[in-house]
Amino acid sequence: MSNPFVNAMAQLDKAAKIVNLDKNIHEVLKQPERVLTVSIPVKMDNGETKIFTGYRSQYNNALGPYKGGIRYHWNVSLDEVKALSFWMMVKCAVVNIPMGGGKGGIIVNPKELSVGELERLSREYIRKIWRVIGSDKDVPAPDVYTTPQIMAWMRDEFEKLLGRPDPGVITGKPLAQGGSEGRETATAMGGVCVVRELAKKKGLKPSETTVAVQGVGNVGGFMAKLLRQDGYKIVALSDSKGGVYNQDGIDPDKAETIKKNGGMLGCYCLGSVCSLEQMPTDGPCRHVSNEDLLELPVDILVPSALENQITKENVDKIKAKYIVEMANGPTTPEADEILHARGIPVVPDVLANAGGVTVSCFEWEQNLKGEHWSEADVFVKLEKIMVNAFNEVWDTAEKYNVTLRQGAFVKAIERVAGKMTK
Ligand code: NAD
Repeated sequence: MSNPFVNAMAQLDKAAKIVNLDKNIHEVLKQPERVLTVSIPVKMDNGETKIFTGYRSQYNNALGPYKGGIRYHWNVSLDEVKALSFWMMVKCAVVNIPMGGGKGGIIVNPKELSVGELERLSREYIRKIWRVIGSDKDVPAPDVYTTPQIMAWMRDEFEKLLGRPDPGVITGKPLAQGGSEGRETATAMGGVCVVRELAKKKGLKPSETTVAVQGVGNVGGFMAKLLRQDGYKIVALSDSKGGVYNQDGIDPDKAETIKKNGGMLGCYCLGSVCSLEQMPTDGPCRHVSNEDLLELPVDILVPSALENQITKENVDKIKAKYIVEMANGPTTPEADEILHARGIPVVPDVLANAGGVTVSCFEWEQNLKGEHWSEADVFVKLEKIMVNAFNEVWDTAEKYNVTLRQGAFVKAIERVAGKMTK
């Protein structure tokens, strides 16, 4: 697997070249401003002390306090955390929110920890990094395998050390603890705004536009439902166990009910829970594998699951006319170039899925002001930001005759560099 930080720096170099970035600013942007590596001793339930390794990378705060999630995963590495903090800087700058880029992580398999061990790990991590975070310094949030409950423990530990309340130190908190309305659906809602703008640019009519969504989790599940409400024809859905294709359209709510009842998505064609053998494998409604879903003849493909899904191995078989990246990093750099050469526009992750961090920023803002906004208010503000960001990225890509991804990076780097020179 390629090194994510090397990939991130290649993207920086490309954008720097396009905008003829000042040499000194370019140098500064090649490293995070600060990286903490901490050892986290945790008293396990069996009485033994186990040491975990954690990181916090603070990439750049020209636009505002560092912002980015904390990931609990056995594959966390320093280079991954650094790359993710760079991409957070880009994402926040693309949507023009007053936040910089940060990211944290702990090398751990949280599924192997008891609730008590998880709480002790989370509190000890905060004890190791608390001096460099705070609502005016660095504002963490949930990421892979970290939850609102973990955010609540972290905030509590931070405030004990600080000696006063600072609810804006962390976002993604439970609603009762200062979380924002609309956070659950924010990423998908932002993605829908982006699809609407793309449709306007390309003259797509929702009722004549077919969509395949890979990964019906938090992001993909809501995205499918919201796009269907907009009139788009959802023809394929998948999760880790496989997917379903129906040329006549899929009702995501019905698909969800089948999943909730223990069925696989392919059972959708039969209307009830079934075995793998019972699922139709041909005809207008059929079971498809995860690989098949990516290669279906649809108008819009929405990868919403994992990174590295569209690669140089399968890119030639992609038949979608547009790709909207709701997952982080679903397209490898090689595949990205081939899609560009094939004339398939890709709305990049740093724009398409930025609705989540935007509403996280709203949560921070509400905490600072002591306010609580309604879900309707949150979505009005979110839409304005996403529509504006999409059009800025589109115009930048046209101005420099580059891809939307490069347009997004260029816009972001221009914005960050503009603040750094002042
Ligand atoms: P999630 O865990 O809720 O959902 C992931 C879904 O992908 C699950 O339904 C899972 O079954 C499915 N999946 C796993 N492997 C698959 C495969 N090989 N093929 C098809 N489906 C597969 O996660 P999420 O919060 O929805 O996040 C999804 C992606 O969006 C991730 O890349 C995440 O980094 C990104 N993202 C999420 C947010 C957010 O607010 N949740 C914000 C920005 C970006």
